[in-house]
Amino acid sequence: MRTLAREIDGTELPAIEKISESQQENPFHVLISTLLSARTQDATTLAASTRLFNVAPTPQAMAKLTVKQIEKLIFPVGFFHNKAKFVKAASRMLIEKFEGRVPGNLEHLVSLPGVGRKTATLVLIVAFHSRQHICVDIHVHRISNRLGWVKTTSPGDTEQALYRATDPRWWPLLNLYLVTWGQNVCRPVYPRCGECAIAADCPRVGLRRR
Ligand code: SF4
Repeated sequence: MRTLAREIDGTELPAIEKISESQQENPFHVLISTLLSARTQDATTLAASTRLFNVAPTPQAMAKLTVKQIEKLIFPVGFFHNKAKFVKAASRMLIEKFEGRVPGNLEHLVSLPGVGRKTATLVLIVAFHSRQHICVDIHVHRISNRLGWVKTTSPGDTEQALYRATDPRWWPLLNLYLVTWGQNVCRPVYPRCGECAIAADCPRVGLRRR
C-alpha cells in the first residue's frame, strides 16, 4: 500500500474524489455522483454530475425535477433511465425520512432507492471520513484476488475477507488506491505487469500470462 501511495501520487483522482474535493465533501453530491458512476466512465460521471448539480444542488431542488429532466441532464451515463428514477426517489426519501440530510450510517444509506453496499461505503468513506469501512468495487475485488490478499468470488465476500486480511489503517484508502491502480496498470484485460511497481509482491493469481 505504501508503494501504491507513492505510485499514484500525482495521477488523476477518480471522479467521486474529484467531485468531493470540488464540492467541499457535500454528502448529497457524493451520494448522487456515486449513484451515477456505476458502469460509466469517470469523465462522463464528472460532466453529468456537474450539469445536474448546477440545476439541482440540494435534495429539495432535485426532488422537484421530473425524471425526464434528470434523464436529460445526466445523459449519457450508463442506465440513465433507471438512475434518473433512483436519483429522484432517493432525494424524496432524504426529505421525507432524513430531514433532507444524507444519513451517516450504513443501514440508513442502503435503505435509499438505488443505493447498495458499494455506494453506501464509498459515501461513508469520502463524505463522512469513516475509518471502519472498505468500499469494494470490481477493481478492488479483482486486484485483491490477483494479489492473493483474498480468495473470493464476489465483491461482497471480498469486503468481508479484506477486513480480516488487511490492516485497518488502510481501509479508507483501499478503494482509492486500487481503483486508481486498476484504471491505469492492473487493468481487467491485459494488466501491465511488466511496468507494475508491486509486481515483485504479486503472485498474479488467476492470470494466464505471467
Ligand atoms: S503484477 Fe500484474 S496482476 Fe499484479 S498488481 Fe501488478 S498489474 Fe496487477
